[in-house]
Amino acid sequence: MYGTIRVELSSERKAKPSVDTGLAFGKYFTDHMFMMNYSEGSGWHDPRIVPYAPITLDPSAMVFHYGQAIFEGLKAYRSPDKSSVYLFRPDKNAARLNQSCERLSMPSIDEAFFVEALQSLVRIDADWIPESEGTSLYIRPFIISTEAGLGVRPSSEYLFAVIMSPVGSYYEEGIHPVAIHVETHYTRAAVGGMGYAKAAGNYAGSLKAQMLAKEYNCSQVLWLDAAEKKYLEEVGSMNVFFKLGGEIVTPKLNGSILDGVTRNSVMQLLASWGMPVTERRISMDEIAAAFANGTLEEAFGTGTAAVISPIGSLHWNDQTMSINVGQTGPLTERLYNTLTGIQNGKIEDPFGWNV
Ligand code: PMP
Repeated sequence: MYGTIRVELSSERKAKPSVDTGLAFGKYFTDHMFMMNYSEGSGWHDPRIVPYAPITLDPSAMVFHYGQAIFEGLKAYRSPDKSSVYLFRPDKNAARLNQSCERLSMPSIDEAFFVEALQSLVRIDADWIPESEGTSLYIRPFIISTEAGLGVRPSSEYLFAVIMSPVGSYYEEGIHPVAIHVETHYTRAAVGGMGYAKAAGNYAGSLKAQMLAKEYNCSQVLWLDAAEKKYLEEVGSMNVFFKLGGEIVTPKLNGSILDGVTRNSVMQLLASWGMPVTERRISMDEIAAAFANGTLEEAFGTGTAAVISPIGSLHWNDQTMSINVGQTGPLTERLYNTLTGIQNGKIEDPFGWNV
């Protein structure tokens, strides 16, 4: 597609961190990385796997000034008999990467080639995939604008790179519910903005409220819509689901919400169990009313990092609403066990998600 992937192996292998001492998320990186450059005229070219090393850029490189930067996140898992390695739905990340590219006026990447690049890199650093229960190799593809020079316009040069990090189990001591702060002042994204893109800038803009949430002893922020601060959008780096009086609901994608791969997988899984999810607008007033009348049964976030994260309480204005007495609900637990089971290869994958 863009030429054969050139491989330059590292002469030194780094010491691998011990899984038993706890693998902090995104702290350790494997021996190699994938890189490929784009320039106007030549398109994407020089795909290569090279030793993991710093990147040198001109101080005027456009990414530093105008922020054309997007990324993806997915995981590779080792099968229980350790004979194979699975990527979970990498085609979905390829498609979302291109959606992000389109929104930020960046060049797209052939989706089959994207998956091939990931597979080649994972094969070379396969011995970095941890083996203990719940561990995986986190894969972080990203694209930045690299043209040297100032002036607000799309860059004519880009770098696509993939780095990988072994990660421990998200829940060292078993799945447990988190406290969430509902943000009523700051917003993450507006309709017409770039909320549906996995743009670095979306995360920069989220940090302030994330810090505020900590002050309320909450671990993450639940974002509301930018226009009315009334309707739920998503949580930190997760999509959100509620079980309200038997109905399973999630905010409808409206342009300001990221289309999560885990969200999509949960909806398919629930549909296969005969429990369809309604995608619609959900207001905080509706959640508060459900809490008041006892029909706020379960709530959980979905995302690559935690897979399923039960929500134990919501802090909204002066009110704290406890959900399922702060315990993990039965549906949340069933989803967690099934989805992680499919990802780890312990449960048969009826959807053909594992590659
Ligand atoms: N929303 C945001 C803002 C995110 O960063 C993520 C993590 N990628 C998600 C939702 C969940 O997406 P996924 O299930 O694809 O990880």
